[in-house]
Amino acid sequence: MNIASLLGRAAKLTPGRIAVFDGTAPVWSYAAWGSLAARLAGGLVENHGLRPGDRVALVMRNCPDYLALLFACWRAGLVCVPVNAKLHAREIAHILDDSAAALVFVTADLAGTVSEALDFIQQRQPPVVAIGSRDHRALAQSDEAAERDVAAGDPAWLFYTSGTTGRSKGAVLTHRNLRAMTLGYLAEVDTVSPGDCILHPAPLSHGSGLYALPHVAGMAAQVVPESGRFDPAELASLLRSHRGCAFFAAPTIVTRLMSAGVIGDAEHAGLKTIIYGGGPMYVEDSRHALEVFGQRLVQIYGQGESPMTITVLPRSLHEDVGDGMLDHRLGSVGYAQAIVSLRVAGGDGATLPAGEIGEVLVRGDSVMSGYWNNPEATAAALRDGWLHTGDLGSLDEHGLLTLKDRSKDVIISGGVNIYPREVEEVLLLHPAVAEVAVFGRRHPDWGEEVVAALSLHEGASVATAELDALCGAHIARFKKPKHYRFFDALPKNSYGKILKTELRRQAD
Ligand code: AMP
Repeated sequence: MNIASLLGRAAKLTPGRIAVFDGTAPVWSYAAWGSLAARLAGGLVENHGLRPGDRVALVMRNCPDYLALLFACWRAGLVCVPVNAKLHAREIAHILDDSAAALVFVTADLAGTVSEALDFIQQRQPPVVAIGSRDHRALAQSDEAAERDVAAGDPAWLFYTSGTTGRSKGAVLTHRNLRAMTLGYLAEVDTVSPGDCILHPAPLSHGSGLYALPHVAGMAAQVVPESGRFDPAELASLLRSHRGCAFFAAPTIVTRLMSAGVIGDAEHAGLKTIIYGGGPMYVEDSRHALEVFGQRLVQIYGQGESPMTITVLPRSLHEDVGDGMLDHRLGSVGYAQAIVSLRVAGGDGATLPAGEIGEVLVRGDSVMSGYWNNPEATAAALRDGWLHTGDLGSLDEHGLLTLKDRSKDVIISGGVNIYPREVEEVLLLHPAVAEVAVFGRRHPDWGEEVVAALSLHEGASVATAELDALCGAHIARFKKPKHYRFFDALPKNSYGKILKTELRRQAD
């Protein structure tokens, strides 16, 4: 089953219903969206000669065209490569290169970054189509293409997730994976009816884009904020204008929305559900969120490799039922979604009993088929049929999972993962730097902020501005350390390993 068929189905059943809004302005009915996706699919094949399985990269801010292109690609049997718009040109270059993208779509704001990225690609530079350009408009003038018959195991979305090795890997999400995610959402995360809508203040290249699918399945509307991003006042105004709204938000976005003080009765009238996840939500923040939003919260835990679909903490478990267990539940990530199996395993792979901490393993139809062109990483992540998440956690006797630490060191700032190794490798490029350890320090707005601990070669010196400039030349701005701390030597254990726990403790 081609996942694009969800749109074809809705276009037939409810052609006149508004399917996509730009803020409060209706953009397309389901019939118009379906027809546009079909024409774009035709254009991708006719004008660009794309063939089933070819990769199409989307380096775009959130906008309605994003949604049209996702479905157009799937309809034509192509594989979407949604790219995090905040990445550095070098990182984007790696994704374009690794996926061997045959075509790149870019919004005007990112055109400069993409052309810089192309400079880093030596061979096979893919053609770029700017949204709104003549090329782009010509695609929509094509004849409607029939929906391509694909196998459930064919790739639909390459989800690039940074690796701890510093090299970003493309989790191959198949049509089956996206369908399982969709069904999991509708079964346990939230109900969706025509007349509801999903708001997209979060990047469409990540969870928000994935959550477009259950809302097409439920024939609800998609609402893309005009700004294309999270803006508390704009979000509040959308909640006053639309009804039955759900949206996905990283915990840090939930806390920023609360501190903006823009949510009251008028906004409650439009708000149905906030699905939060993608990083840890502190119990204190959850309690506060319950006061501000009422019983409208659902937590999910997932990762690119099993998109949005590992556990769920449904709305009912956010209720204080007077059993003294609310904090425990809020501190957990809920139970395994019905569509997956989950166990916590020790280093030998054996299942651990309730209460013991081990690695979280997941199996089921939502789990990726592997990493794109990366058999070693695939073999390491998918062992004996189980996805090894790299997250550590423990189950309680009821089956609620609490995450302890995610393979210890990953920093989650503003809901975005930052892999210390990537930053460390860049800082080590400076000739004065002898040792470096990058870690996260708790931050009230961003969840965590990046701190770098360094020791220098004897007699060497460096200005932090030089280190900033080095980072600016290699990695995305949001990964740059906010603080530098200098040591004669970094603290180490008896094996010579740098003790990040000690550094974190000192920095708190
Ligand atoms: P990504 O692949 O970018 O979506 O990041 C996935 C990682 O984010 C997971 O492996 C977890 O470490 C973390 N994560 C996702 N959801 C949650 C959650 N609800 N609570 C804590 N950490 C989470």
